Amino acid sequence: MRATLMYEAGDVRIETVPDSTISEPTDALVRVTAACICGSDLHPYHSMTRDQGPARMGHEFIGIVEDTGSAVTTLKKGDLVVAPFAISDGTCQYCREGLQTACVHGSFWDTQPLEGGQAEAVRVPWADGTLVKLPVEADSALIPSLLTLSDVFGTGYHAAVRGGVKPGSTVAVIGDGAVGLMAVLSAKRLGAEQIILMGRHQARTDLGREFGATDVVIERGTEGIEKVRELTGGQGTGIVLEAVGHMPAYEQAYGIVRAGGTISRVGVPQYENAPVGFGSLFGKNITLTGGPAPTRAYIAELMPDILDGSIDPGKVFDTTTNLDGVPAGYKAMDARTNLKVLVTP
Ligand SMILES: [Zn+2]
Repeated sequence: MRATLMYEAGDVRIETVPDSTISEPTDALVRVTAACICGSDLHPYHSMTRDQGPARMGHEFIGIVEDTGSAVTTLKKGDLVVAPFAISDGTCQYCREGLQTACVHGSFWDTQPLEGGQAEAVRVPWADGTLVKLPVEADSALIPSLLTLSDVFGTGYHAAVRGGVKPGSTVAVIGDGAVGLMAVLSAKRLGAEQIILMGRHQARTDLGREFGATDVVIERGTEGIEKVRELTGGQGTGIVLEAVGHMPAYEQAYGIVRAGGTISRVGVPQYENAPVGFGSLFGKNITLTGGPAPTRAYIAELMPDILDGSIDPGKVFDTTTNLDGVPAGYKAMDARTNLKVLVTP
């Protein structure tokens, strides 16, 4: 079978790899029908060293169950399923709490050396806990939107939930990538009144407005902070959803949050050390929250809105390619000429 491998920063290849097969009784084998490239795939695309590669890529996919291990009870051959970016058993205490990213048997696709979603097939561990059956056909027009449940929609929603967005909230979203735009859609869904999107790519911020952004701020740094203050009666926003992961975005977040507010981060931090002292969080009584989203927990809640057409998060995909087009897809997302690339292997 064919799969995507990253050898080092900037070097993505499609190669023939050993076929994925069932190895544990709790596994399912899934033939991938739709996958995508994630903004977080761009982090290794910038930083991976030769000795860290090659790595199998892809943590967002929809596919058809080809085979199941003897212990799998909720899925059968022919089912169409969506996989969250985290693997989880569905039964441990964390899974029952809805924090599947902390599952005691859990892991992330990105740490699986021999599996990945940007491929023709995947062995899915803990299939009963990990996978969610989709009530549509593999060629449904809803597939792009349903695919966002793997990661970007659930991640944007997690940002909004952790940020405490509720009816009437004033929210700023940092980042106009797919997760930032999904954070806008999520804040809107949870009833936010003012949603300020910070981003500078007009095609993206236009989509952000369509998803519910009331204001767009293209400035960054101190200018950006001033602009957000202007829009919020001088105080900043009560909730900041940070969907980038780089230090300047974090600095932007504590710059624009109002006293007593919350910063919710879902951009994977590309730093370990960050300011938490008087001038950043402490002085303004700021709550810092967020982390890898348990998107598995949100699928049941978000899917009905997609199925009945009331929201269309699939609009974040602005191009579709096959596996051969994946290396160019990375390049295009990195160059910001594509927002998010849908892959139909
Ligand atoms: Zn678990």
